[in-house]
Amino acid sequence: MRILITGGAGFVGSHLCDLLVAKGHQVVCMDNFITGRPENIAHLIGNERFSFVKYNVCDYLHLDGPLDAVMHFASPASPQDYLEFPIATLKVGALGTHKALGLAKAKGSRFLLASTSEVYGDPLVNPQPESYWGNVNPISPRGVYDEAKRFAEALTMAYHRYHGLDTRIVRIFNTFGPRMRPNDGRVVSNFIVQALQGKPLTVFGDGSQTRSFCYVDDLIGGVTALLMAESDKSVAERTNRAGFLSQPAGLPTESLHDPVNIGNPRELTVMEIARLVLKLTGSSSSLQHQPLPVDDPKVRRPDIRRAKVLLGWEPKIDLEEGLRKTIEYFRKALTVKG
Ligand code: UDP
Repeated sequence: MRILITGGAGFVGSHLCDLLVAKGHQVVCMDNFITGRPENIAHLIGNERFSFVKYNVCDYLHLDGPLDAVMHFASPASPQDYLEFPIATLKVGALGTHKALGLAKAKGSRFLLASTSEVYGDPLVNPQPESYWGNVNPISPRGVYDEAKRFAEALTMAYHRYHGLDTRIVRIFNTFGPRMRPNDGRVVSNFIVQALQGKPLTVFGDGSQTRSFCYVDDLIGGVTALLMAESDKSVAERTNRAGFLSQPAGLPTESLHDPVNIGNPRELTVMEIARLVLKLTGSSSSLQHQPLPVDDPKVRRPDIRRAKVLLGWEPKIDLEEGLRKTIEYFRKALTVKG
């Protein structure tokens, strides 16, 4: 397949480029480096299956040649980043998604939208199934990301229903791993970098809020399974082979066009993450409480029954193993940077 990945030089996008190139696909990576980084894709430059276009996906999109799939991953994604770039975040979720969908329609490509667990906002239901509509404050500082992605989902479904485009939507829960930026502000990267540098770990609020963390290799496995899954018929066959006689309670008839949660359901409090990072790094850093950001979700945990039924997917890498690999990555990255 020839696949365009917008945001392909970002944390998740660059791992997707690696996986798809390794599987023998032609990958066109597009990024404007607002939060993506050239070093994430430097090793792919020169590979005949990989090409790079520096471009803002919000501008009119044209690409020569056939295209089998468009994967729309461009967007600031850490709270610190989308608070710093609120308008770029809204634009890439709205205008960028529109351009990417338009290109997919023109080329007859399959389209996959990278959506987010933030569409559930500060959820009143835990864990969150895809059927939950969410609890989002549209005018909160976080609203720029949440509403951009909710609009992107609505637009994607409209292209599917109105134009018959073959679309997929993945709702990505907290993800971590190598190539996170040391200063991107997310909890795992912050805690690891602080622990390795012997600085206090910044726990926002009392640290009782929860998140569920998925290692990036597991995530991109789920995302590519969703992209490649063929038809509702094959899903039905797989469902039967897996021994499911009926859909799990509370889920509508499964369709590959409906959003699919991809994440790791192991839920921890922020305090538990801090202690785990201290243990695995062997650091003696202290904990320093800081104010909780506005509208910070109190709980978050994916219900992944749909991914299991539709894709036969579930995460395989446990949190400690993923954290060890990530700590190793940051140890090296921080040494190189001095
Ligand atoms: N957090 C924290 N210390 C940090 C960074 C984040 O306690 O240095 C908290 C944050 O308030 C949230 C959780 O960790 O409750 C996850 O934050 P992150 O920015 O990683 O992503 P989110 O899940 O909020 O999008």
